Amino acid sequence: MVQVPDDIAKRLKTCTSFPSPPPVAMKVIELAQNPEIDLATVADTISADPAIAAKVMRIANSALYARRRQSSNLRQALIVLGLNATLTLALSFTLVATLRKAPPSGFDFDAYWRRAILAGTWGKLLASEFGRRDAEEVFLAALLQDIGMLAIDKIAPEVYEGISPFQLEHARVAQHEKTHLETDHRMIGAWLLNDWNMPAHLVQAVTHSHDATAGGVDAEHKGFIRAVSMAGELSDIWLTNKSEMGIRRAGLEVHRHLGILPNRLAEMFEIVGDQVPEAEGIFEMELFEGDHLQEITDSAREILMIRNLHTLSENQDLRVEKEELEQEVSRDGLTGVYNRRAFDDAVGREFETALRHEWPLSVVFVDLDKFKEINDTHGHQAGDAMLREVSDLLTANVRDSDIVARYGGDEFVMLLPGLDAESAARVASRLVEEARTREVDDGHGEKIGITLSLGIATLDSENTFSEAKDLAAAADEALYHSKRNGRNQLTCYTAIKAA
Ligand code: GH3
Ligand code: MG
Repeated sequence: MVQVPDDIAKRLKTCTSFPSPPPVAMKVIELAQNPEIDLATVADTISADPAIAAKVMRIANSALYARRRQSSNLRQALIVLGLNATLTLALSFTLVATLRKAPPSGFDFDAYWRRAILAGTWGKLLASEFGRRDAEEVFLAALLQDIGMLAIDKIAPEVYEGISPFQLEHARVAQHEKTHLETDHRMIGAWLLNDWNMPAHLVQAVTHSHDATAGGVDAEHKGFIRAVSMAGELSDIWLTNKSEMGIRRAGLEVHRHLGILPNRLAEMFEIVGDQVPEAEGIFEMELFEGDHLQEITDSAREILMIRNLHTLSENQDLRVEKEELEQEVSRDGLTGVYNRRAFDDAVGREFETALRHEWPLSVVFVDLDKFKEINDTHGHQAGDAMLREVSDLLTANVRDSDIVARYGGDEFVMLLPGLDAESAARVASRLVEEARTREVDDGHGEKIGITLSLGIATLDSENTFSEAKDLAAAADEALYHSKRNGRNQLTCYTAIKAA
């Protein structure tokens, strides 16, 4: 179930100006979920709508699916594309055609579609890059990931009044929506797709479209969700003319989440650049004229290629480091996460790496609230169980390449290389929230709740530290503020400094 506030769900249900999918789309959704579909049924359904049939033909013959022989009829096209892929593409055509008919009131429609088309193209390419057979589904999910924005524009147009100066700053828009609606376009989009009976993993991909870690998602769908979310981020690089730093960070993220090396990513920028006009043609949009796609492709290539050698060796170092860490006496006996010694070593190394490459590095200190009381009331064993529960929570919410350590007693620390302050705060706030939902059995059937206090510090171009231990101390100081302000919250070091 996708949760949105009740009044929003009501507005979505009763909104007449937001188009619902045409019958042919509903039919396609239904067919796609039937494991026994056959060529004839798919051909019948598709040819019932000549415009869609024509597009299926066009895409089968396009460079996106280039084959030696051109398909001259729908049947051949279906074979070239595959049944599921055809259905998914047909669905994307009808939905886009329908959604395009609803002109917006408050925000830049072209900017919206530019991101959608770019993200879809990136999504498909990322998916094929790591051999996924559901590249079209990734395409569709990436294409539709912001559909909630179109819905918000209809059910609450006032939300987008005045956003044009920052419409392209995706995270900021979501934050803005949240302050008005107590939810954002991800959740609203997911709600809609769920309401249209779209497959669950597609709905889930939209829910997680801002979360490249795909935290809490089952292993089977992590790759799918990461591809969709990275597709969005990569599109933003193009759309917002991101800085060198932004491109480098994206290179790092793509490597971390998808295992694609920077030099390959540079090539992929070019491929997407070539494919976008094709996709525009198929969707009958002219969005990128005069946009400097080529320029950005060139600078992405330059930056990613130059960094490539460094990054490659860096990542090898990181792997060796991790293996060494695993074997040594670097683990905490009770919880299995790293111990303080391992953390101290790792933070030193990552600090140097971050400085050398001008990557951000975030440190988050985490301390259980009133843990002594819990020990005193429920006993040491319950306390131990709680420490394990918290390690589990922390580990589940970061990437494999991040480091989670028990710093001592009831204090944990996380090292998040490549994460800027905003992303680290996002991870941290998820931890504060998720901790509140967890509980531990005290061994006598009574449940004990958990709350955490967190402190974050980030090394980046604006916040410099001369040594790793200063960065760690800053995060610890931020944690102290969370405690003093009443616990069960997070504090960023920059906020204390600013005050
Ligand atoms: P605050 O909200 O200010 O953090 O209060 P607190 O009670 O959590 O802080 P304090 O640092 O005073 O208490 C930490 C407690 O953690 C004290 C100690 O008994 C307990 N502790 C330390 N190591 C372990 C352990 O391995 N197992 C258990 N069960 N308790 C531990
Ligand atoms: Mg404590």
